[in-house]
Amino acid sequence: MKVVAIIPAAGLGTRMVPGGKKVSQPSKQFFEINGTPILIHTLRVFARNQQVSHIAVALRKNEMDRFGRQLEKDKLAAKVALVEGGEHRQESVANALASLQAASDDIVLVHDAVRPFVDDEIIGNVVREVEKHGAAIAGLPAIDTIKQVERAAEGAIITSTIPRERVVQAQTPQGFRYELIKRAFDSAAADGFIGTDEASLVERLGADVWVVMGSARNIKITTPADLELAEFLLAQVTRRNLAG
Ligand code: C5P
Repeated sequence: MKVVAIIPAAGLGTRMVPGGKKVSQPSKQFFEINGTPILIHTLRVFARNQQVSHIAVALRKNEMDRFGRQLEKDKLAAKVALVEGGEHRQESVANALASLQAASDDIVLVHDAVRPFVDDEIIGNVVREVEKHGAAIAGLPAIDTIKQVERAAEGAIITSTIPRERVVQAQTPQGFRYELIKRAFDSAAADGFIGTDEASLVERLGADVWVVMGSARNIKITTPADLELAEFLLAQVTRRNLAG
């Protein structure tokens, strides 16, 4: 049984400007922290990990050559294969899945390109639960009180309060036996279902997806404020690595 990772990174960076128009900008995964693209930071964690034997990264076609050269330069090319992404995240992951040479009991981890602070402990815990149950994701208990709302022209109106103990915030990695994730993606494609994460596709099949403890450090870098936090977290990680 082997463990492989898929990193969807084929998003087109867009930014909302006043008036609701979207303009393009570099995608978040290519923003740099400390002079290195976020995606490279993320790949380093999976490339160093002893359990993960292969990594498939989905990229936009026009970014593949340049990024391939960067992987060579950063000595990451040995474990990493580049795959052309699709129109949305799910299609990018589907393309990466189709590129894998995997047996049905192999484990596939899908991880957000913009979560560079994942660590070996979280990866190991997800893998262990997938070995036991077939499907598991990293998640964090909700700290804030969660409200269900109805959108209104001038904002939102609360319709109910969801008991906090019944809610977790889904992170990645999300891990599955190859046979299960393949079946979930085939079924979603057949039904035209698009989910916002991989677990939601597996849930549709009625399979149990287990949750293991993620980490508050395992942030998804999406806003300028996240980038500032990321610089701080990276300095911490670098100090810890230097200390041995
Ligand atoms: O969960 P969320 O929608 O934020 O995921 C976005 C992620 O999916 C980004 O890493 C982005 O690069 C990736 N993506 C992709 N292919 C697309 C659109 C997004 O791989 N066509």
